[in-house]
Amino acid sequence: MRGRAVILSIILAAGFFAVSAQPVECEAVTVGDIVFLVDSSRSIRTENFKEVRTFLSKFIENLDIGPDKVRVGLAQYGTDPVQEFLLKDHMDKTSLLAAVDKIMFLDSGTETGKAINFIRDRYFTAEAGSRASQRVPQIAVVMSDGASSDDVPIPAKRLREHGVLVFAIGVGSYNRKELEIIANHPSEDFVITSDTFQALQGLRNTLLKSVCTSLEAQREALTERFADIFFLVDSALPQRQYILFRNELIRFIDQLDVGQSSYRIGLAQYGPDVKVEFYLNAHKSQAQYTRAVKSLQLQQQPGQAQNLGGALEFAAADFFRPEKGGRANQGARQFLVVVLGKDFKESVFSSAKKVKSEGVTVVTTSVTVPIESMLILSTEQFVFNTLKITQLMDVFTTKEVEVVTEGRRYLLVLNSLKSTNTGLNKSSNSCNNGD
Ligand SMILES: [Mg+2]
Repeated sequence: MRGRAVILSIILAAGFFAVSAQPVECEAVTVGDIVFLVDSSRSIRTENFKEVRTFLSKFIENLDIGPDKVRVGLAQYGTDPVQEFLLKDHMDKTSLLAAVDKIMFLDSGTETGKAINFIRDRYFTAEAGSRASQRVPQIAVVMSDGASSDDVPIPAKRLREHGVLVFAIGVGSYNRKELEIIANHPSEDFVITSDTFQALQGLRNTLLKSVCTSLEAQREALTERFADIFFLVDSALPQRQYILFRNELIRFIDQLDVGQSSYRIGLAQYGPDVKVEFYLNAHKSQAQYTRAVKSLQLQQQPGQAQNLGGALEFAAADFFRPEKGGRANQGARQFLVVVLGKDFKESVFSSAKKVKSEGVTVVTTSVTVPIESMLILSTEQFVFNTLKITQLMDVFTTKEVEVVTEGRRYLLVLNSLKSTNTGLNKSSNSCNNGD
């Protein structure tokens, strides 16, 4: 009798353990396209590859698979990428798991960059079963055990610019730096590592949680197309320009759907130092934002040089941090709008690059600074010669679905976004129109 009770409690304990080990994070996720890109190079070895397969099967078991739910595609790679199955190939869990079971170890080189290009071209397309055009979240999970022998940064950037949120999993002798280059920012959320292949199984729930959280957040982002917009204003802006900018910013906030679950705005001014007026998570309503902008007073410090480089470094390290309201980890697009008063002397290229390397699109605008100078700071051609901030609205409320995670290419548009005059040389003639 007593023996039976012990056995029963063991069974109960085992049952409880099994239940508690089941992740619940993905329950809310109804829809997503997930493509796995699996390193199958010689360095992994056959016995470890089995662990990778187990990891993938167990991961997929926890997803709600179906044609209108979660779709999974998989490619593996060595020297060359190999198509295992596309997003459209297996619409039910049983056939998907059977396909995972059939994956054979390639046992060749490691060309990760080429493989990343391969999944962008072959997997994240409508023909292959991607539902990007229906605003379904796009996710890639890249698994690698070490460094690639080809170029990785450009293919990875192009994949992210394609609107795909990229996770990187490192196992064994992984190269952390390369994983950070592959994945989205912040790397705390998008890079997962394990020192051994055996320990990989223990990471399943961590990855599930991260992927499911991102799926949910990206779905929201795709629905609402929200963004984090931080304005950094030169405190030496002449009085007339400052008044115009402030009034325009109030109008901008009035026209945009601002709030914690839609567009978030931050504001700072820079002189010799940076003064943050409010962070992205400071205000909840349009009225609060408006009040805060109305109370903006530029603090000019005559005789002291403006430190734009320092301000950009500070912006890169501080403005978009998750604890300060930045939502890069939720797929929100992020913009730093630099409002320049005077042309700057110091070299700011590397400081601006730091902001951009965080995945933030740098927009510059000024009615006095030459275009050539602004181009040093800005992302691609996000350069404007106006303080009428409301004219920049389209930059932030882009209708393009493709790009959620990084700034897309944007034509240089001067004076008005409605202008058809978008050529750099032609437009720079009308640069200093003083509006
Ligand atoms: Mg290798």
